[in-house]
This record gives sequence, structure tokens and C-alpha cells, in this order.
Amino acid sequence: MDNTALTPAARLAEVRANIAKVCKPARREPADITLIAVSKTHPAERIEPLIAAGQRVFGENRVQEAQAKWPALRAAYPDLELHLIGQLQSNKAEEAVALFDCIHALDRPNLLTALAKAMAKLAKPVPCFVQVNIGDEPQKGGCALADLPAFLEAVRASGIPLAGLMCIPPADIEPAPFFALLAKLAADHGLTGLSMGMSGDYETAVMLGATHVRVGSALFGARA
Ligand SMILES: *Cc1c(COP(=O)(O)O)cnc(C)c1O
Repeated sequence: MDNTALTPAARLAEVRANIAKVCKPARREPADITLIAVSKTHPAERIEPLIAAGQRVFGENRVQEAQAKWPALRAAYPDLELHLIGQLQSNKAEEAVALFDCIHALDRPNLLTALAKAMAKLAKPVPCFVQVNIGDEPQKGGCALADLPAFLEAVRASGIPLAGLMCIPPADIEPAPFFALLAKLAADHGLTGLSMGMSGDYETAVMLGATHVRVGSALFGARA
């Protein structure tokens, strides 16, 4: 996927067209898929051309980096939506709740406790996706498959808004079976939101039911 010569607006149009193309055979509507432009590592001047081209939903993976970049952008463009897509430490829960509109990496009881407390304190309910360790990889975040039913029950009991399930499949292996498994888990638990698919596999993810795709390099070019 070498589209480095394209302008940000052209890359955005290309990604949107690719999503629309797979929506057709999948009998889905492009409007039902939220494209999250993952802007981590990129400065505001690389983000603004995408805002100018109409993109409104962005993703960051670090609370501190987002705090440095986004307050000024949000002041300039009040209709932006900011998603936290990366691992979150419990001691950063309150800062995350204050800054983000959606959190994609809720994966353990102590983080659930910290987020529920922060949302109550700030009176700001922030929808959260429960991240599932779909490939059972020890080095990766995410709730273990065996722990998922009990954890979802705890999230529901906490009262924080449950957006759905999120996964990052293992690298260097066909992702479709993992996307299909996440979709099945979501259906089994009565959840409709599915955050899955990145630059290399977002079309596959859409065909398998993704409602939120997290696309970085296909929009911004390679990260340093
Ligand atoms: C960086 C990142 C992405 C985007 O990755 P690309 O391959 O650049 O599209 C998506 N999801 C998460 C959790 C990430 O950390």
C-alpha cells in the first residue's frame, strides 16, 4: 500500500472508497462504520489537513501525547471526537476521562474501578470498548477469553457505557479468523460495537462486521 505520494485528503478519500467498496458485498452502509484516524506520533500540522478534508474522529494511544496536542485542536475545531486506542494505566484514568470521548482498551478490573471512579467524579460518562486478547498473546493487553464473561458482567454492573469489543490480532498471520471470533463474542454477549482493523486489514475487518476501524499509516504515511 504505497500511497505516500498522495496528499492527506487523497489518502482519506482512498481509505473511505476502500471501505465503501467492501461495504457493498458485505451488505453494510459506509455510514455505519466509524473511521478513526490514528494520529499518534504526528504533530498538529499533519493532522489539520485531514480535518480540513472533513475527518472528525481521531485516535491517540498515549494520554500524555494527546494532552500536548489536542486541547488546542479541539478549541479550534469543536466538533472533533477523540478516541484513546492504546493501553491505559489506572493512574491515568482521570486524565483519560477528561480528554477522550471514547476509550478502546478497558481490559482489567483495576482499570474498570479507576475509570468508573473518574467518570463519577467528572460527571462524564465515556463509552468504553473492552479489549480482548484475541490471540491469547502473553505480551499483549486485553482481557483473556476465559475471563471475558465475568469481566463484561462487572463492566455492566459498574454502569459505565459499554461500547463493544476491541481487538488487535496477532501480527504476521491472517487476521480474519480473529475478527470473526471477536464478532461472535460480541454477538454472544449482546454487543454491537466492534473496534477492529488497522491500515493493513481494515477492509477485512469491515467485511466481518467492524463498526470502528483504527487507521494510521494509510492516512498519515509511515511513522518515524
Ligand atoms: C497504531 C495503532 C493503530 C493504527 O495502526 P496503523 O497500522 O498505522 O493503521 C490501530 N490500533 C492501535 C491500537 C494502534 O496502536
